[in-house]
Amino acid sequence: MQIIENYINGQLVAPRAGNYLDNVEPATGQVYSQIPNSCQQDLEFAVTAAQQAQYSWANTSLEKRAAILCRLADLIDANAEDLARAEAIDNGKPIAFARKVDIYRSSANIRFFAHAGTQFSSESHAMENIAINYTLRDPIGIVGCISPWNFPLYLFTWKIAPALATGNVVIAKPSEVTPMTAYLFSKLCIEAGLPAGVLNILHGSGASIGGPITTHPKIKAISFTGGSATGAHITQATAGMFKKLSLELGGKNPTLVFADCDFEETVKEVVRAAFSNQGQICLCGSRIYIERPIYEQFKQAFVELVEKLKIGDPLDEQTQHGALVSEAHMNKVLSYIELAKQEGGTILTGGKRHQLDGRCANGFFVEPTVIEGLTNQCRTNQEEIFGPVCSIMPFDDEQQALELANGTQYGLASSVWTNDLKRAHRVAKQIEAGIVWINCWLLRDLRTPFGGVKSSGVGREGGLEAMRFFTEPKNVCIKY
Ligand code: NAD
Repeated sequence: MQIIENYINGQLVAPRAGNYLDNVEPATGQVYSQIPNSCQQDLEFAVTAAQQAQYSWANTSLEKRAAILCRLADLIDANAEDLARAEAIDNGKPIAFARKVDIYRSSANIRFFAHAGTQFSSESHAMENIAINYTLRDPIGIVGCISPWNFPLYLFTWKIAPALATGNVVIAKPSEVTPMTAYLFSKLCIEAGLPAGVLNILHGSGASIGGPITTHPKIKAISFTGGSATGAHITQATAGMFKKLSLELGGKNPTLVFADCDFEETVKEVVRAAFSNQGQICLCGSRIYIERPIYEQFKQAFVELVEKLKIGDPLDEQTQHGALVSEAHMNKVLSYIELAKQEGGTILTGGKRHQLDGRCANGFFVEPTVIEGLTNQCRTNQEEIFGPVCSIMPFDDEQQALELANGTQYGLASSVWTNDLKRAHRVAKQIEAGIVWINCWLLRDLRTPFGGVKSSGVGREGGLEAMRFFTEPKNVCIKY
C-alpha cells in the first residue's frame, strides 16, 4: 500500500496529526493507497515555509525562474509514461487519453507559463505634456491553488504554473479523490531544484484543509476550480477578507447542430464532446440541440457511434471509455438517469452500470447514455451531471436554438456546428458562455481567456489573464 506524503518546505512529510484517507482505484473499487488528511497544523507549517521563501523567489531573475520551471516540464515529459499510468489508475480514465491529454498538457502548461513569465510586461499611460503613469505588477505573495479530480495533474499545473512564473509562493491542494500525480509531481519539484517553500502541496479533504487554505489570513488570493456549490461556499467563507478570487466552476454546455453542418465530422466530434473522459469535463457538451430537418438522421448516426465506444480497463490501450472517478459519483450519475426517466425521457442507448470481468469486476463503469424527449426546463437538462449522459433535442430556428442554449444558470462553454459564416458569428455573439467553439470542440490555445459566466464562475484563466490575476497592479504617476 503506497503512502502519499505532503510536500512542505522542499521535503516530503507525513501529516502532523497522523490522519489519513483511503484512496480507491475506480476501475477495481479497491483501496490502493493512503493520503494525508492534512489540517490547520500542516497549513501553518506550509505558510511559514512559504513566507520564508517569498522574498527570495519574488527576486529571483525571470530567466532563472523560467529555467527551473522548464526543467520541471522536461521532467514531466521524461516521466510521462509513469504519470499517465498513475493518472489512469487514480482517476479511471483510459491510459491512452491520460497520455495524450492529461500528461501532455501538464508539461505544456508549465512550459507555456515559464516562457510567459519572461515575456510579461505592464502598461504605461502618457498624459499629453502633464505626466506619465506606469504600472508595476508585483507578485501577490502567498496564494492558494485548489483543483478538482477530473484532470488531476493538468488542472493542478494550470494553476500553479502562472502563480510561480509571476513570483508568488504557493500552497496547493489537489483533489483528495485523485492525489497521486500531484504527489509524484512533488518528487519532480525536488529533482528540478525548485527552492524549498516556493511550492507546498497539502493533501486532504475540502473540509479538513481546503476550507482552512481559503480563509487563512496570510493567503491573499485563491485560484479555485471545482463545483459551483463549493465556489459559492468559498465566496461566503472569504466574504469581508478582501482576497482575490478566481473561480472556475461547473457547466451544462450546449452543442448547437445546424442542418448545414459537415454531417459526418459533426457526429464524430459531438460524440467526443459529450463523452470524452467519461463525460467528466466541465466543457463537455451535454445538451445537444439539432435542427429539425436532420434530427432523425443525426440521432441515428450519433447513437450508432456512441455504441461503438469501447468500455474497458483504463490500463488497456484500446479502451476509449473508462471508469467514473468514485462509487459516490457513479451513484450520482445513475440517479440522474433514473430522474431522466421519471421526467419523461427515453433512453436511446446506455442507461446502466456496466459490468466488466476479472480485475475490473467491481469497477465504477457507466455506459455512455443518450436520452431524448426531455424538456429544456427539467432537472436533467438544468443540473450538471458530470458523467457520460447527454440529452438530445430538436429545434426549429436560430432564435429558438439560442433560447434553449441560454436557458440554464450555467455559461461555461458551447459549440456550434454550421457552414453558414454569418450565422456562426451571430450565434457566437449571442451565446451566454465564456467559450464558443465553431466547428470544433476543446481546441485550446493557452493564450486565450478561459472561464465562464453566470454560475460557471468569476474571472478568467489562461495567458495574460492568469498572469494578471497572480500579480497586483500598482500605478506610479510622475508629473513632468
Ligand atoms: P469540488 O468542488 O467538490 O472540489 C474541488 C476541490 O475543492 C477539491 O480539491 C476539494 O477537496 C476542494 N474543496 C471542497 N470543499 C471545499 C471547501 N469548502 N473549501 C475549499 N476547498 C474545498 O469539485 P470536484 O467534484 O472535485 O470537481 C468537479 C466539478 O469541477 C464540476 O462541477 C466541474 O464542472 C468543475 N470543473 C470546472 C472546471 C472549469 O475550468 N470551470 C474544470 C474542471 C472541473
